[in-house]
Amino acid sequence: MPKILKNISDVRDFTSLYNLVNRRIGFVPTMGSLHDGHLELGRRARKECDCVIYSIFVNPIQFGPKEDLDKYPRDLKGDLEKLDSIGTDAVFFPDESIMYPEGFSTYIDAGETANILCGRSRPGHFRGVTTVVCKLFNIVGCDQAYFGKKDMQQFIILNKMVRDLNIPVELIGVDTVREKDGLAMSSRNSYLNKKERASAPVLYKTLGYIKKHLSEFAGQEEAVQKAKEMISEVKEAEIDYIEIRNLKDLSEVKNFRKEKHVMFLAVKFGKTRLIDNIILN
Ligand code: AMP
Repeated sequence: MPKILKNISDVRDFTSLYNLVNRRIGFVPTMGSLHDGHLELGRRARKECDCVIYSIFVNPIQFGPKEDLDKYPRDLKGDLEKLDSIGTDAVFFPDESIMYPEGFSTYIDAGETANILCGRSRPGHFRGVTTVVCKLFNIVGCDQAYFGKKDMQQFIILNKMVRDLNIPVELIGVDTVREKDGLAMSSRNSYLNKKERASAPVLYKTLGYIKKHLSEFAGQEEAVQKAKEMISEVKEAEIDYIEIRNLKDLSEVKNFRKEKHVMFLAVKFGKTRLIDNIILN
């Protein structure tokens, strides 16, 4: 079983042994309730690093006041068994008071990229993400950290953070792991009722259709319009946003045919908001 580290000093003692002999530490930050998507990050870390550390921390400051912090799924026992099966060395599992002791007041603001797409629907979300990930990097002192491309906006924002703040961690993006019907694995999929679950694969089907037929659209507006039409056909789906943005920095696409861009979407099924994306070209 992976070693459970509850305190910051436990983590530093654990990693110091690896640092002494110049071994590579791979780190996977998560909020737990692990599925195969989370495990894929660790499998990749296992191949590339000498030591694999996960964190499991449901980070309160990335949840809005009306969001699902209290009912976010938690399953430490199941998580540890899964992490054991892929050869995880240690899990940092701090209490909230360890991460945010009384008087905590310093945050990282990633600027405009944190205010678009999911940032518009979830004000303050990415400020919570950048702040906790920076803290975790400082605690763990990893060489490489692994993130899912399912959360592409998060991955792009975190890359900007490590560049802007000269944080010496290399970020590795891992392709989205999907269910057989194409639905991106997510801890929040467990909230879906039967009907919603049956409808949710429309997201990836739509993204795949747009990518396949990209050359047939006159421009990005037409591609977005088609995606909106396809998803609106599903009764259970309520679109939050569908947008095409540059892969590099999330800026607006000016030259649809030349720039490397991504279609991002967020769609609600009942109370559950799901996100997905696809690199189009
Ligand atoms: P979370 O616990 O939701 O904060 O996710 C922790 C990490 O797992 C993030 O880097 C996510 O992008 C990644 N992740 C979540 N779902 C998937 C998936 N289906 N495929 C690949 N990575 C994922």
